[in-house]
Amino acid sequence: MEEKEYNVCEENGNCYASARGQSAQRSFSMKKNIVIVATGGTISGTAAKRTDMLSYTSAVLTIDHLLEQMPYIQNLAHVSGEQIAQVDSSDMNHTIWLKLANRINELLRLEEVDGVVVTHGTDTMEETAYFLNLVIKSRKPVVMVGAMRPANAISADGPMNLYNAVSLAVNEEAKGKGVLVTLNDTINSSREVTKTNTALQDTFKSPELGYLGYIQDGGSYFYRFPTRKHTLETEFDITGLSELPQVEVVYSYVNSSVELVRCMAQMGVEGLVYAGLGNGGIPEVIKEVLTECAQKGLAVVRSSRAGSGIVTRNGAVNDDVCNFVAADSLNPQKARVLLMLALTKTKEPKEIQRMFWEY
Ligand code: ASP
Repeated sequence: MEEKEYNVCEENGNCYASARGQSAQRSFSMKKNIVIVATGGTISGTAAKRTDMLSYTSAVLTIDHLLEQMPYIQNLAHVSGEQIAQVDSSDMNHTIWLKLANRINELLRLEEVDGVVVTHGTDTMEETAYFLNLVIKSRKPVVMVGAMRPANAISADGPMNLYNAVSLAVNEEAKGKGVLVTLNDTINSSREVTKTNTALQDTFKSPELGYLGYIQDGGSYFYRFPTRKHTLETEFDITGLSELPQVEVVYSYVNSSVELVRCMAQMGVEGLVYAGLGNGGIPEVIKEVLTECAQKGLAVVRSSRAGSGIVTRNGAVNDDVCNFVAADSLNPQKARVLLMLALTKTKEPKEIQRMFWEY
């Protein structure tokens, strides 16, 4: 029987071929090629003191620096890095999104690239992940990863998370599952994952629907699949786009002001996601103004501030009469992502509703 061959890198950075009589070059060629596209975030952040977990500067170290610190990651795959941005994810924007998505599509079209890992700040990771989930055109794995502690903190979680992300990206089972998000040894679907805690490493959850699986000792274990259409199955194409339609979110609360909605309409926004109450409920006075706006062509999507569950079409509000769209189970920030992409295709509420049920 032919002996299995693989390349071994020790923690001190020495790499060698383990198979007898084979060159390191040959050994490397058997491994998959994973490109890490870096955008910044705490995973590349540094603190003044190793004990500072929450006051630090995000987006300082380059991906090349992070990779140099963990040579053993090359045991999993031939891993290379590309710095596409260097921002705290609160400064993520559409220009970077479009650049990122176009670059990932370009990389995944290359036969020699087997998968992409994206490093990103955790604060807006779920939005970027869902955006990529809808516009990447490949079955190859795309895995997003970040960290809750800066890179030089005691027990920094970034190196393990990054190692896990690469181990997930080389896994055959990660193919065709849309953009995945991993932190803290869990695998999440980008459609459902959300940040649920301001500081804990165990912050990313897919409320009620659960993780897709776990990562342990370099192995990925899946227990369920994403069911909504993504990547190759979507109708969205960002090639040639230089901006996305303007869509804003308005949050509901007791005695909320109708002026905010009027102001948005006057600003000429193309779409508005209303983060409604319970099953997407809207105070009467705001509903009247939103209905007027929807009749004049503003795309209005009812989502919920509740944190989980479906916003039912014609449930709390008669969407047929008001010309609204129900967000299904997308949280307000993800409903905004889908609405922006929907508006690149159509302004017709019924058509947009179809997309909310499909994606
Ligand atoms: N503020 C940071 C960011 O989103 C938080 C993190 O990465 O964990 O970039």
